[in-house]
Parts: sequence; C-alpha cells; structure tokens
Amino acid sequence: MLGRLRMSINSCIEEYRILSGDIFGHPRMAHFRSPIFWPRDKYDGKLIEHAVEKVVHRRMSAAERELGAGNFNSPPGLCRTVVFAYAEKISDDKTEYRYTEDKKSIDQEGSSPYLFRSYDHWGSGALPQSITERNPGPAHNIPIWQAARATTAAPFYFDTIEISNRKFGDGGFGTNNPAQEMYNEVSQMKGDDPSSIKLLVSIGTGESSISRIENGSFKKALGYINAARKLASDSEGVHKTMEQMKEKWEVPYHRFNVPLKFGLGKIKLDELKHDTLEKIEKDTTKYCNTIEKELELVAQILVDNRRNRSKSDMWSLVSTGKQYRCMVKKCRRTQELLPRESDLREHLKTAHENLTSSKINGYVQLGTCPPLHRSV
Ligand SMILES: [Zn+2]
Repeated sequence: MLGRLRMSINSCIEEYRILSGDIFGHPRMAHFRSPIFWPRDKYDGKLIEHAVEKVVHRRMSAAERELGAGNFNSPPGLCRTVVFAYAEKISDDKTEYRYTEDKKSIDQEGSSPYLFRSYDHWGSGALPQSITERNPGPAHNIPIWQAARATTAAPFYFDTIEISNRKFGDGGFGTNNPAQEMYNEVSQMKGDDPSSIKLLVSIGTGESSISRIENGSFKKALGYINAARKLASDSEGVHKTMEQMKEKWEVPYHRFNVPLKFGLGKIKLDELKHDTLEKIEKDTTKYCNTIEKELELVAQILVDNRRNRSKSDMWSLVSTGKQYRCMVKKCRRTQELLPRESDLREHLKTAHENLTSSKINGYVQLGTCPPLHRSV
C-alpha cells in the first residue's frame, strides 16, 4: 500500500482497519486448528484476493485501472516495491532465468525466497548465478492481489497459490526479516556498491516467541511449528548480521521492533477483537516514546534525501508519475514516453519546425500523461 499504491501512512492504517475485518473476520468453520479438525487452512485465500481488489478499487482512479495500473509492475520512475514470498518450482521449464553450465534448469531446488518486483532487475549475468541473486528479470506484470496472496500464503493460515510455474506458501514461513535480502538487492543493482545505500530501515511486527502460532498435536503441525521457531530465531539472526555489516560497510541501518515486554508480540497474527487495533497502537506508541532520538535521526535522513531529490529535474516524474508524449499529428514518436517536460519541449522544437511558443505550450498540456505503464 505504501510503495506500490503510494498511499500515506494514515490512509494505510484506515485501509488496514477495513482489510483486517474483511479477512480475519471470516475464518472457516473447520480447519487445522479448530476444535473440529479439518485438514485445510484457517482462511480461504479468496478473502485476501477480494480485500486487496477492493483496496485497489478504492485507491486508484478508473482511468488508471483501465490502463493496467492495478498490476504489480509500476510505471517507471515511481517508488520501487518488493514483496517477498517463499517459492517452490513446479515445472522443469528450461526457459527460466537460472541455468547451470550444461543448460539444465535448477528445478530440483527446494523452497527458496522469491521476490516480486514492481521494477525490472537485470541480473549480473554471472554463471553460475550467485545464490544471493533472487530471480532477476522484468517487473512482475501480475495483479496486485496475486503478489499479496503469494506473500501471505502460510501453513495453517492461508491456502497456497500457484503463479506461473511456482507454488507459494507450502515450504515454510518465508523471509520474516528481509533486511539482508533488500541490502543484497539494492547493492546488486548499484554495481555491488553498498555505499549507494543511503538508509536501510527495518520495521518488525514486534518481538515474539512461538506463541503467535498455536500449538497442535499433529505431526505436520509440529513440522510447521519448528519452521516458525526457526524463523523467529532467523529474524534475530538477520538483525545481528546487519549490525555487523553496518560497521563494516558503514550503511546507516536502523531496526525498529517493539520488544517483548511491551506486549505487542503476544497478539496473535490474526487476532481480531474489538480492541486489537487500539492495543497494537498503544504498545507501539509506548515503545516509540523510548526511541525518540533514533526516530528523529532517521526522519532527518529521509527529509534530507527528499530535499536533494526535489532539486533534480526528474522530480516531477518521481513525485507524481507524470510523463510526456508528443501529440503532433503524424509524428512517429507518439507512443514514446518522455520522463521530463523539457524533453518534450526539446522534441517539439527540433522535430517539428515552426511551432510558436503558444503551440508548444498547448502540446505540452495535451501530452502530459498520468502515471502510465510502458507500452511494451
Ligand atoms: Zn513529435
């Protein structure tokens, strides 16, 4: 919601209130963890699909949706967003990105973290591919709800989902602390130069013990509980690694996670009581009051970065997604999106002779496009 739909924090909280009710308010009568055991997950994955579709509907104009803006890939220039999921390959499709030297796809791989990207990520091209490079390729042109389903598919809670030749959500609980994955992703895209990272902020959902996922007496359940336990420790492990990297690479890294003593971690993943959201807010505020200095420091870096970017001539694109195209009749470049107003003015002046400045202004107005997807 923050990244792909570019919503404000307040709008996100507002949507979460509706969304959590739409999803967690409708558990199945019988499931893995209900008094009457039934071997299926607690919630129907359709609930997420519908809830997310409703958010997209509320937060995007009809014109944007018509132009395919309801998909996860983002118009160029806008905020890059990543969603993590846990994937298992289900075919031996040899056209996949990953190859060994003898050109066989590595489909015997077990479940591994998978990134859904709103932007293109071209791989380093190194063979064999580095294991830290996750499924490079073009941006994911799939509906936003599919990315949401893939990242929320978790044993006991939501059904698995198949997208293209991968199955999501069966192998475990995925990447709970993706800070290190993000660090790798961004440095890989910037020529393996960690100094290109101006700030890395990791926000947790509250330190917790295993209690967030209920115990069960079935063997399968035990496997998942072990996976969940491992994940809780992995999450802290990642934090420790990042702390070390921060020293080594001088990456400004901050992790905010409400400690166990404030109680947030005791709230179940799908708890939906009349006061759950208020409790979340209260515990988080209590914690935030203890870390004011660090929060201010991070806010200052963010404000400085934004100020710097606002001086760039790409600011109009970055802040609004606006792009420009030539609308002069019979121009062969009408399908080409230009990132800056000045690019269109330059084109109008050089490619179309004898346009008066008022004509040029008219064409600039006519050729200003809302956030658009690439035409390819
Ligand atoms: Zn033209």
